Amino acid sequence: MKTIIIIGGGIGGVVAANELQSHLSREHKIILIEKNEVHTFAPSYLWLMNGGRKKKQISVPIKSLLKKNIELVNAIVNEIIPGEKKVKAGGKEFYYDFLVVALGADLVPEKISGWDDSIHTFYTFEGAARLNETLKNFSGGKVALVISSMPYKCPGSPHEGAMLIEDFFTAKGLREKVEISLFTPETQPLPVAGPELGDAVRNMLEKKGIQFHPSMHLNSVDTKLKQLFFNGKDAYEYDLLVVIPPHQAPLVISKSDLANANGWIDVNPASLQTKFDNVFAIGDVTSIPLPGRWFPDKPMMLPKAGVFAHLQADVVAKNIAHKINGKKAIEKFCADGYCMLEAGGDLAGFAYGDFFGEPHPLVNLRKIGRKWHFGKVLFEKWWLSQVGLKKTIYKNLLLAGGKLVGIPVKL
Ligand SMILES: Cc1cc2nc3c(=O)[nH]c(=O)nc-3n(C[C@H](O)[C@H](O)[C@H](O)COP(=O)(O)OP(=O)(O)OC[C@H]3O[C@@H](n4cnc5c(N)ncnc54)[C@H](O)[C@@H]3O)c2cc1C
Repeated sequence: MKTIIIIGGGIGGVVAANELQSHLSREHKIILIEKNEVHTFAPSYLWLMNGGRKKKQISVPIKSLLKKNIELVNAIVNEIIPGEKKVKAGGKEFYYDFLVVALGADLVPEKISGWDDSIHTFYTFEGAARLNETLKNFSGGKVALVISSMPYKCPGSPHEGAMLIEDFFTAKGLREKVEISLFTPETQPLPVAGPELGDAVRNMLEKKGIQFHPSMHLNSVDTKLKQLFFNGKDAYEYDLLVVIPPHQAPLVISKSDLANANGWIDVNPASLQTKFDNVFAIGDVTSIPLPGRWFPDKPMMLPKAGVFAHLQADVVAKNIAHKINGKKAIEKFCADGYCMLEAGGDLAGFAYGDFFGEPHPLVNLRKIGRKWHFGKVLFEKWWLSQVGLKKTIYKNLLLAGGKLVGIPVKL
């Protein structure tokens, strides 16, 4: 009998637990340790922000996402001791044969000099809901959307956020009264996806009259004067400020033996194995350099995105199950990622490609259309529905849709 512990019950953790359950006999123990009882689906925060969803529609008990015979422990993991094959959570010790670390990334807005509660973000569930209220009461002025630092999750989201805010004010008949600007320390939109995709996204923003400001490194904010200060640039005045907060590795990781110098976890890019035997890390908590890519002089990293957490969870779970079942661990993670880029008006673009491709990823943006938006909605429905018949129906619809458009969807 083997015990597999998964820490973190977000996208990666849930997929890993369910996949393990499908491939292991019931004598083995699968334990998922997660601090929250309720799961909120982060890609839908954008629709919470623009009023397309209510809080209840995008939150479900984590238990409902898990297959039978997975033990869910609601507790905070406060220590990981790989040398002793042990984690501590909720005042208890848990011993494992295999460990999957899926603790995601923490948001640390307070790292922004001048941060206070008047600043908005749609990168959290509560933040997206609060921003919706503010947008509803906003009568016009300058909206500044600022990517405060790197890395940040889902490189498409800030651009989607800007386009959905634009769409919101257009629908309200206020577009003429609102100026929208997107600031980023990057040199182009989504540099990680290569120059062609960056140009395509910049085009999308420009067509909507959204001003794109690259190479802007946020220094500080003065919320009394409503001014933003970027390195070596004049102060920029705003009326409504929305930020993508700084991200950092969870402290329980950065203080553990798993962490690299920046606090994240280095893994083998194909197997997701850490430097410890039978300890794997997946999703946002990992740090995976992209072959031959630099920004500006540091290696570029695989984006922190649910699509990769999901694919990595699948690989790790299958390989652990192979090992337990006495077979060879043969699954390899290849960074074929996709993203439906919401553009407003029930339209979305679709980017798909190999992020390990050289000299830069072979990612391209398909023509904007309704089908990509509906694909995103369908994915949301599949993800949030309880394990059972309804989930299977959504899964089959997604697989069939993928075939129709020539994308090998993996769920
Ligand atoms: C607004 C927004 C839009 C996005 N849109 C997309 C998209 O369209 N496509 C896409 O691919 N990605 C998208 N993402 C990114 C995606 O949500 C993340 O990349 C993904 O959730 C990462 O999965 P993960 O399992 O690594 O981490 P998470 O899903 O963040 O899960 C980590 C889990 O660990 C738990 N945890 C943390 N610390 C502890 C602890 N000490 N003890 C116990 N539990 C703990 C957390 O509660 C959480 O449930 C979006 C993100 C945001 C914010």
